[in-house]
Amino acid sequence: MKDIIKILPENISNQIAAGEVVQRPASLIKELVENSIDALSDRIQVFLNESGKKTIKVVDNGIGMSQNDLMNCVLRHATSKITETKDLMNINSKGFRGEALSSIAAVSQLEIVTRRKVDKFGYKLKIKGGKIQSNEKVVSRVGTYVLVKNLFFNVPARRNFLKSDSVELRHIINEFHRISIAHCDLNISLNHKSSEIFNLHKSNIHVRIKNIFGKKIEENLIPIREKTSFVKLNGYIIKPEASKKTRGMQFLFVNNRFIKNNFLFHAINKAYEGLLPEKNYPGFFIFLRVDPASIDINVHPNKIEVKFEDEQSLYSIINSTIKHSLGIFQVTPAIDFNTKSSFEIPYSKRSDQPIPPKIEIDKNFNPFKDQTSKYHSKIWNKSEIIYKEVGSSNLFNADLINEIISDYGNKIFQIMNSYLVTSTRNSLIVIDQERAHQRIIYEKLMKKITNSDISSQQLIFPLNFVLTETQKLIYFELKNTLTEMGFRLEIEGKLNLKIIGIPEICSDNQANKIIEDLFDEFENDPKKKSFSNGDLIAMSISKSTSIKKGSFLEKEEQKNIVNNLFNCKEHLLSPFQKKIFYTITKPELQNKFL
Ligand code: ADP
Ligand code: MG
Repeated sequence: MKDIIKILPENISNQIAAGEVVQRPASLIKELVENSIDALSDRIQVFLNESGKKTIKVVDNGIGMSQNDLMNCVLRHATSKITETKDLMNINSKGFRGEALSSIAAVSQLEIVTRRKVDKFGYKLKIKGGKIQSNEKVVSRVGTYVLVKNLFFNVPARRNFLKSDSVELRHIINEFHRISIAHCDLNISLNHKSSEIFNLHKSNIHVRIKNIFGKKIEENLIPIREKTSFVKLNGYIIKPEASKKTRGMQFLFVNNRFIKNNFLFHAINKAYEGLLPEKNYPGFFIFLRVDPASIDINVHPNKIEVKFEDEQSLYSIINSTIKHSLGIFQVTPAIDFNTKSSFEIPYSKRSDQPIPPKIEIDKNFNPFKDQTSKYHSKIWNKSEIIYKEVGSSNLFNADLINEIISDYGNKIFQIMNSYLVTSTRNSLIVIDQERAHQRIIYEKLMKKITNSDISSQQLIFPLNFVLTETQKLIYFELKNTLTEMGFRLEIEGKLNLKIIGIPEICSDNQANKIIEDLFDEFENDPKKKSFSNGDLIAMSISKSTSIKKGSFLEKEEQKNIVNNLFNCKEHLLSPFQKKIFYTITKPELQNKFL
């Protein structure tokens, strides 16, 4: 029999390698901008069309390449950054594997134009699917531009795998955040089609963060700093009460390289323990500087995972530095939180005597512990009106429901501040108040869409919400559906979202929270395809505004919940497909007493 093993031709092996390095347009941005940084550029411009699917162009003012280097840079394992094994122990550049350009060249139409300061002319190389098309002398500026057209044009399976333009653009923006925060000393811009998304000037970290995420973030930043024999740590952490439901604000850098490291993330989470609302993640911008010889960044082709020599010590240092900074900040939380909550007092109550802020220093202080119950007793009045309005039309025929509605009378009570218990002639019913309320809110909102009822309640004083670029994209995606639900929103200037009106079912003091939670939900990327935007918005609002477990309810409020729940189209399951109530039948009870 003949031998069957053969060495793959370079174009195929490059295509395979591309699978690891180039996953989507955002990975190209990372690789190309990192190359520009390694080429000592201090101005980098990124231009995109169709979220990078059509074209990505990265222009820099770095050292450029000679004609030979230009020919070589697209070969596999071609790099100027290391020459021998021991260099691997002392990596100071972003790249060193010599894989990016060869991989990109294999799966796109690539054009590179480059010129060194010492050369009179520049050179232009064109490659299509790994094959050189042309190589010529051109007039150009000092520096390099790399233009990538039609990514994955020759790998349809990979091209089809790409997500919608807005999702891909969000990935790009995330990548851009990471690079531009890691390199504050760069002038760097990002442009999509003809519009400028970011144009960041060289600055310090604080200003950089503000320029990216908006002015609002400033008041939530707590500085951190520590220096030991083997690590220098600095940066900012985000106040616990400004934490998010997504990991979007987690930036950890080692020697100016964005990394993910679960062990160190754990150190950070631990430091925040007891201070975060449930399901929220801490936000941070932490910069570590260590001896390059003490880390291994060659764990994965995208170099996002890093191994540390002494992870245990690093864990303790990060943990204690954050705890320390949070501790200093804890002296003033009561003032902060009170000012914040005074904005949440309904307008009708604004004339009430203000409650003087209490200053307490409590080590175990958790700003969120009982906030939900306070919050909801404030919003209740509004919700109550809505329940009456939903009324008792729309009855359902199922025997059980009829029986409950006609029979429950005064026999409802609340147990454990969490469940409503009622009974019919033949059964006992226990209702989860939070899930029931979610269902009621959800259906009310969905009904608005189906009935094309775009009525809205105007806020007396419109609120301003400063968007991040990612949130702005999400806003445009959801705009129409939000209007159908009764929101009145307007973009003012570049990033200011003016909240003018909200659906009647919501209380005006919840407006900000609703919008904030909504963006948080949608920033969590892979949304289940089977849900419409309307569904997802209604789900998010039902979650953020529902009465929570642990909230005491008055008799009338309990009745409203039960009444309205059984007027819902679906009353068995919450919008999140969780059981709302269960029944114990008479025979079941009798069985217990045999
Ligand atoms: P690596 O960055 O790992 O070396 P790449 O494939 O990304 O591998 O790049 C190969 C080589 O091409 C680099 O080592 C560098 O010498 C050169 N190069 C790439 N981009 C640029 C650029 N923007 N300016 C100057 N040289 C560049
Ligand atoms: Mg590179």
